[in-house]
Amino acid sequence: MNLNNTALRQIPLPSRLPKVGTTIFTVMSALANEHKAINLGQGFPDFDCDPALPEAVYKAMRDGHNQYPPMTGIAPLREAVSQKISALYGHHYDPATEITITAGGTQGIFTVIACAINPGDEVIVIEPVYDSYIPSIDTVGGTAVPVQLIVKRNDDGDISGYEIPWDAMAKAITSRTKMIMINSPHNPTGMVWQSADIDRLADLVRDTDILICSDEVYEHMVFDGKDHQSVARHPELAQRSFVISSFGKTYHVTGWKVGYVAAPAHLSAEFRKVHQFNVFTINTPVQYGLADYLKNPDPYLNLAGFYQQKRNYMRQGLEQTKFKLLPAPGTYFQCVDYTQLGIPQAKLNSSDFCQWLTKEVGVAAIPVSAFYSDPVESGVIRFCFAKKESTLAEALKRLQSI
Ligand code: GLN
Repeated sequence: MNLNNTALRQIPLPSRLPKVGTTIFTVMSALANEHKAINLGQGFPDFDCDPALPEAVYKAMRDGHNQYPPMTGIAPLREAVSQKISALYGHHYDPATEITITAGGTQGIFTVIACAINPGDEVIVIEPVYDSYIPSIDTVGGTAVPVQLIVKRNDDGDISGYEIPWDAMAKAITSRTKMIMINSPHNPTGMVWQSADIDRLADLVRDTDILICSDEVYEHMVFDGKDHQSVARHPELAQRSFVISSFGKTYHVTGWKVGYVAAPAHLSAEFRKVHQFNVFTINTPVQYGLADYLKNPDPYLNLAGFYQQKRNYMRQGLEQTKFKLLPAPGTYFQCVDYTQLGIPQAKLNSSDFCQWLTKEVGVAAIPVSAFYSDPVESGVIRFCFAKKESTLAEALKRLQSI
């Protein structure tokens, strides 16, 4: 065969996501590895899970649970999830029709968007926003409509927390608004929604057909004795919401990529139509292992106490530095303001500051500006404290040397 240059030319592929590069988490993890920095950037534990969990998975494999499971997930796992949600939030999801096991939170979120959003539909997102939401909306031809969390400052000008921009959200609603995406506990800020916020959201959407996509993957990491305010607690919101959660976060197995989506039957039915052609189903032995492990509520009930101790350790160490600590009421992230460090690098933008911190100080962090569609510079970076105490101690020593 005669192959000339025309036959071998590169066929152009106009990008569905022209503005998207590699995720900030991958970029910062690669930089941390290259410079042998302590990686407090990408959110994942550096300690192992309870050995009982992989044991339960090995057992499932040995017992021959190695073929395709049902498309929606194995019944014992859906039942265990349903019981957990009923016990914690008082809402019954029918395991047969209202709970679907997913390949982690990100796939759950993508599939929610893919099943619900048509070209031209608008989706309100609240910035700083988790990096997958807007590209997912763009992929299916929807229009992301960002509003921004209100940054609260105290009398000294230090950031004292964040507030939900209710006025901006009300203004952002149009006849094309199909969905509002929320996330509590919030990545990256750690902010948690209060029950009054959930009520206010219900007021906002009451007379509309707006759906809610509620990313609750950090549901078991709410500190200081507070409760997680799931939309599942609010019957009216539950009726129009997809709730997403993740076993990876809860059981220290982020690499297993298993989560679930709970939604009323009519929404789950549409979700499942896309899910079955998106991933079809999730690996069988891990589902059996998780179903077995979920029987004991202690691991998820004790998770907030476990991470609160790490948060406190991290905060005490950071108090010995000139970083300004932001409140950290939930998630395994601690945000800090670096602009008052009193060194020339404190004037860098947060992306450059994180590069410098990784290369020269040996601690990787994530710039919060990366969570905005048009980077907003508030001088805030995010550290992940899901690490062994020895890892945190060494990172803190390096940060204290600045
Ligand atoms: N959710 C994790 C974080 O916020 C990252 C997951 C990923 O790398 N996509 O750090």
